[in-house]
Amino acid sequence: MPFLLPAFYGMIPQMKNKQSTIQNWLAEKKSQQLYRSHRITETPQQARMKIDGQSVLNFCSNDYLGLANHPDIIASFKKAADSFGVGSGSAHLISGHSKAHQALEEYLADFTGRERSLLFSTGYMANIGVLNALTEQGDIIYADRLNHASLVDGALLANATTKRYQHNDIDSLERQIVAQRKKNKQVDNQIIVSDGVFSMDGDIAHVKQLAILAKKHHAWLMIDDAHGFGTLGKTGGGLLQQQHLDQDDVPILMATLGKAVGTSGAFIAGSEELIEYLIQTARSHIFTTAMPAAIAAATLTSLEIIKKDQWRRDKLQSLIMQFKQGAKELGIELMPSDTAIQPILVGSSKKAVAISQQLFTQGILISAIRPPTVAKNTARLRITLSANHNEKMVDELLSKLGETHI
Ligand SMILES: *Cc1c(COP(=O)(O)O)cnc(C)c1O
Repeated sequence: MPFLLPAFYGMIPQMKNKQSTIQNWLAEKKSQQLYRSHRITETPQQARMKIDGQSVLNFCSNDYLGLANHPDIIASFKKAADSFGVGSGSAHLISGHSKAHQALEEYLADFTGRERSLLFSTGYMANIGVLNALTEQGDIIYADRLNHASLVDGALLANATTKRYQHNDIDSLERQIVAQRKKNKQVDNQIIVSDGVFSMDGDIAHVKQLAILAKKHHAWLMIDDAHGFGTLGKTGGGLLQQQHLDQDDVPILMATLGKAVGTSGAFIAGSEELIEYLIQTARSHIFTTAMPAAIAAATLTSLEIIKKDQWRRDKLQSLIMQFKQGAKELGIELMPSDTAIQPILVGSSKKAVAISQQLFTQGILISAIRPPTVAKNTARLRITLSANHNEKMVDELLSKLGETHI
């Protein structure tokens, strides 16, 4: 019980209040099946994992290409750790930006067809840093209603006004932009920001239309491609590569390295000027320790594998098709997604948790995603597929789902 103070300290009244509030709050969340707790894994990310002592097939990892435990990437990591040690020791702007970080930034710029890129220690920090750096009071951030929490928080922390538009609804977005213009003719800085592949739904943003609209209204466009980077596009360059959208169409590209890339961290890619500006102003880049150099080196190796192992994307695609077809035959309704994220909408958190627990005892790991991660009454089983899976595993998943009353 971390909130209990040792008796001999006595208890100041305020603390006592807070303590009982916390206790009540925790009890309430438990009763609503909204309580969250850690599961402990004893294995690397892979198809079959040992978790909380049980052997399970993992269908809720973001390691879409099966690279988080790849021998060549591990070897790179070890080699770089021998050269650079473990900790980077300081922030990028002090003495923490190694040759490995520099090489990775250059590779990422080239890979995404952008002038430059900038590393962040996590995707959460990248989103917070960019939205803060690029806006001030009076500016407007237009955000898709279903954007990832890190974009929501980034907008909350920024001084700009945030307007959330209906999910993937370009008309709703344009109406808001026009209405805002009418109200205030002075607004000259606006950012439209959207997930590329929506993290809890698996559907894809209408990025081409967003790009046209952004140009029309002289707004920045920022796409968070956390779930498209690596899995989509001819060489895994992501959603924007797949849709042939360059730096001019989408000036701010953000992607994470902890999902399909299989390592950790994130980057922003864009113009030389944008990156220079972020280096001066993005607080979550400036005031934090650089990611370990060994992670940067391992990431570069992972990107080389992503480029050349087309079979990983092909295999993932064929497993997605197999799953969708199989679910259809079983009469299991899926959400409209063609990506590796294949959620089943359940509705009540209680039911979603019960199903997830039942599947766990049967050796299938799927997490129940509940509010506030998703909207009220839209709890779901977020199934993710990976190139680490095989057809037999997907068959097993389907047969277990088929026996479950959803
Ligand atoms: C996971 C995720 C992030 C956060 O990235 P981390 O590196 O895990 O902090 C940001 N945006 C989206 C859409 C994500 O899915």
